[in-house]
Amino acid sequence: MKGKELLLTPGPVQVPWSVALAGARPFPHHRSQDFNELLRSIDHKLKQVFRTEGTILYFAASGTGAMEACMVNLMRPGEQAIVVAGGKFGERWDELAQAFGIEAHVLAVPWGEAVRPEELAELLAQHPQARTVFTALFETSTATAYDIEALAQVCRTAGALLVVDAISGLGAIPLETDAWGVDVVVGASHKALQTPPGLSFVALSSERAWQQVERAGMASYYWDFRRAKEKLFFTPYTPAVSLLVQLNESLIGLLAEGLECIRARYERYARATRAAAQALGLEVFSHRPGAVCTALQMPPNVDATQVVELLRERYGIWVAGGQQQLKGQIIRIAHVGDITPQELIGTLGVLELVLRELGYSCRLGAGVAQALTVLEDAGPTPATASDGGK
Ligand SMILES: *Cc1c(COP(=O)(O)O)cnc(C)c1O
Repeated sequence: MKGKELLLTPGPVQVPWSVALAGARPFPHHRSQDFNELLRSIDHKLKQVFRTEGTILYFAASGTGAMEACMVNLMRPGEQAIVVAGGKFGERWDELAQAFGIEAHVLAVPWGEAVRPEELAELLAQHPQARTVFTALFETSTATAYDIEALAQVCRTAGALLVVDAISGLGAIPLETDAWGVDVVVGASHKALQTPPGLSFVALSSERAWQQVERAGMASYYWDFRRAKEKLFFTPYTPAVSLLVQLNESLIGLLAEGLECIRARYERYARATRAAAQALGLEVFSHRPGAVCTALQMPPNVDATQVVELLRERYGIWVAGGQQQLKGQIIRIAHVGDITPQELIGTLGVLELVLRELGYSCRLGAGVAQALTVLEDAGPTPATASDGGK
């Protein structure tokens, strides 16, 4: 590694020192009582994050693995489904459906906009055979939050099952799985849960979801939800034990800080970033931004890819660029993870330097001043979960 680097990408994120160090500790054998107790304790805490009393299944895979697991456990080849696609991750649901011979009716949402619940209701009415809806809580590629409470209402009215990819949103923006009647929720370790990548989760909160698993049961061995449920606190195969140890450490920190407090911090960072953008004459890309990350449209003659590269190469700061048609157009600055206010302000400050270097004229300090004003108005920012390695 080339010296000090900052990770302000929407996955993976900066993990607190205590979480990083937990990965170095000797770990329990996965058939031991200690492991069983560890997983029970994680489960107890993770249910508070997922906001469900349902069943959470654990997989040694990145988020996409758990998405695929949902597709193969809930659907059968030839069946119909509805997929909300307003960005790269919504499109991934469509690609998964295609891979398994499922006929997906795509609700194409313009990138940067949120899906409108009425449109989902219409599509469900047009396709009475399609009774499973796949969507995201936060479409990370466009930095857009969807109104899952309203979508869940539409699904309930239509008698459809709702599957939500909350991989980036879980722990960062509100999601009331049980109270809103969301049937299935997918999460992963390496975003707002502040753990290294490699773990993913599927929460099944309703009886309906399990009935659909029983009925569908596509041929899959490793991903079989029924087998995973039978071996709930042991997992049927070797789990990613050291990542689970780290997740446990992270959840302890997150719950001690308080989920509402954490969300307020992310929200404050998002507001500060938007205020800085406005002062610099930059547009916020999304029409319905959320606290996971903020996408900023770069000025017409500035290549966003170069902004990302200069931030990384000159300053060791990792932000994300745009994907697919947004490549070269936007940069995405993450707010989740173990990020201090000084790291955010520093990033916004050197962003000004980089923009000027690339020929964009803005007054030095203009963005930072507005961001600082937001932070000051919000009152003293509480310390993050990080213990600085102590
Ligand atoms: C990160 C992310 C994923 C999955 O990514 P993996 O690289 O497989 O972990 C899926 N959906 C959303 C919304 C994401 O942000």
